Amino acid sequence: MVKETIRVYARVKPLGRRQQAGIYSVDDNEKSLSSLEIIVPRDLADGFVNNKRESYVFKFQKIFDQEAKQDVVFDNIAKPVAECVLAGYNGTIFAYGQTGSGKTFTITGGAERYSDRGIIPRTLSYVFDQLQKDSSKVYTTHVSYLEIYNECGYDLLNPRHEASRLEDLPKVTIMEDPDQNIHLKNLSLQQATNEEEALNLLFLGDTNRMIAETPMNQASSRSHCIFTIHISSKEPGSATLRHSKLHLVDLAGSERVAKTGVGGHLLTEAKYINLSLHYLEQVIIALAEKNRSHIPYRNSMMTSVLRDSLGGNCLTTMIATLSIDKRNIDESISTCRFAQRVALIKNEAVLNEEIDPRLMIVQLKKEIQELKDELALVTGKQRTSELSQEELLELDELIETFLEDNDPDSTLDVGADMRKIKYCFIHVKQLMNHSKISDKKLLSQHISEEKDTNKEAGEEELKKLKELLQQRDNEINILVNMLKKEKKKAQDALFQLNAASAGSTVLEQSLSINLEDSWSPSSYFSLKEAKDFCSSVPRLPFLSGQAGGKMSLGCQEAFEVFKQDYADSITIEDSKQLLKQRFTEAKCLGEKLNQVRNKINHLKGEITQRHIQRAALAVSSPSENLNTLDPVEEKLRTQIEEEKKSYKTMFNRLKGLKVEIEHLQLLMEKVKMKLQKDFEVWWSEEAIHLQV
Ligand code: ADP
Ligand code: MG
Repeated sequence: MVKETIRVYARVKPLGRRQQAGIYSVDDNEKSLSSLEIIVPRDLADGFVNNKRESYVFKFQKIFDQEAKQDVVFDNIAKPVAECVLAGYNGTIFAYGQTGSGKTFTITGGAERYSDRGIIPRTLSYVFDQLQKDSSKVYTTHVSYLEIYNECGYDLLNPRHEASRLEDLPKVTIMEDPDQNIHLKNLSLQQATNEEEALNLLFLGDTNRMIAETPMNQASSRSHCIFTIHISSKEPGSATLRHSKLHLVDLAGSERVAKTGVGGHLLTEAKYINLSLHYLEQVIIALAEKNRSHIPYRNSMMTSVLRDSLGGNCLTTMIATLSIDKRNIDESISTCRFAQRVALIKNEAVLNEEIDPRLMIVQLKKEIQELKDELALVTGKQRTSELSQEELLELDELIETFLEDNDPDSTLDVGADMRKIKYCFIHVKQLMNHSKISDKKLLSQHISEEKDTNKEAGEEELKKLKELLQQRDNEINILVNMLKKEKKKAQDALFQLNAASAGSTVLEQSLSINLEDSWSPSSYFSLKEAKDFCSSVPRLPFLSGQAGGKMSLGCQEAFEVFKQDYADSITIEDSKQLLKQRFTEAKCLGEKLNQVRNKINHLKGEITQRHIQRAALAVSSPSENLNTLDPVEEKLRTQIEEEKKSYKTMFNRLKGLKVEIEHLQLLMEKVKMKLQKDFEVWWSEEAIHLQV
């Protein structure tokens, strides 16, 4: 981006023979700004613009005095702008000054001599020269030539030479797009591939301008002419386009309305003859003011067309043309004042780059083809943008398998192929959408289906319950049968039962008291044992399996009755009684053994006592013979021997009892196992029998 104020130059026209020289001086400064001092002659000073100043000093980038030649003006003013335009920036050079001050001479040039060529032909020559030299880019050049007269635009490059009036030329209108860019409708852009073609177009435009002009309407002094060179450039292979425009503007004469008012009074503020110059000045005043948000570009066609050139994306240069003869002092000062304001305007020129969509498409297509080729090289397969019918079918199958797979770890692997991945997503989406859309339809269907499923489930449950009921019926029947049998031998059984339960209680007590460590109380059949037994016998599905591993209550009851009615119960009872006897015996023996052991210990103590007594006697009466046998001690010793014998017999007897008890315990364990087995077999048989 180039940020720059508008460059303002001054050019003083050579005086004609009859013109009276006004007094001015030029202080040309090579390094900084040059200044132009205009000295007001004494006879004018009194009334001149209502103040009495005698001299005015104005600053310019450079001042071209009367002798300055066209080539110098071009080199200094136009060449730098043309260079920027070639680089892609917009540029504008406009000439401002009163009629006859040399605007047309400066912009277009004089017709007499070749050396009088102005900025337009020289710029064209320079531009084409540069384009030819630069082979790094492809350039396209167009020109347009617009004349604005009375707020109307006319295309001067109309090839038909029928126009005898300005109104016969195609009318150009302004269009503004949503981005507030100005477009000129009907202004033809004529392509010029070389300098000659461009010069021919300039000549065509000037001819049209001349023909349309009549001495009456003085079109040339009241109209603005804008010759525009459009350049677009592009590097080969790049989609980036650069567009730039160079406006070369020959404005209408800046002279004001009657210098003297009615009655000879001087007007303090002269008005422009040309309204659009008035608006141009307003725009420039607005731009020169700080913090001014609204710039009235739209007020006139000319300011609209030059919108970018003034305070916008453009490098702009102004040439103030002056004809400083005595009569034109006030106009010269006005021109200079205008120039001073313009010099304050800051422009921001940016590179006009854009991507050409067509070129972009071509480029992207090329890139795609290259990538496809590369992919084909790597994968060994030619890849088209569409999937083949075969591939689609394969994908459908994969998706189906994936959706049906209940494994949470299952994946849908289609490989590193975006087409396939996209297809899968679309397919799944379609499936989802389809299910959503047909949800309502399916809802009723679903409900009936659900009913069916429920029915099925219900039927299954019913079947199970029926089976369970059957099972319970069996149990009840078995129990009823058992009860009937029991009734017949009621008294007997009752007695037996009572006896058995009483016996078992005694046994339980004795066992729990005496044999806690060696023998757990499992020699009789408790309800708990029966349960444990049943749960440990998986061979009985109707007992444990279906009842959730628990024996049914019926089964437990039956087991109790079965146990009491068991054929081997006598053996069990005998064993129980025997075991009881043996326990009592063992207990007695144990007690007796203790007594004998105590007695022996007591006798031993007596002997010791006897020894002490004898020793004491010997000390008191040494005449006593200690070596003689003590009959009391002898008797005690015999007693001890007898007790020892009886102890030994009793100990052996207890030893025998222990073996017998252990044997009896094993026997009972065996009987218990047999009872469980027999019950199991009997229960199964009863159940099968009832089912049949
Ligand atoms: P404008 O376009 O401002 O009305 P022109 O460019 O038509 O003025 O100039 C008026 C006359 O003065 C023309 O005949 C032109 O040839 C002549 N003239 C203007 N400037 C110069 C100059 N620098 N050198 C020689 N002749 C000039
Ligand atoms: Mg002119």
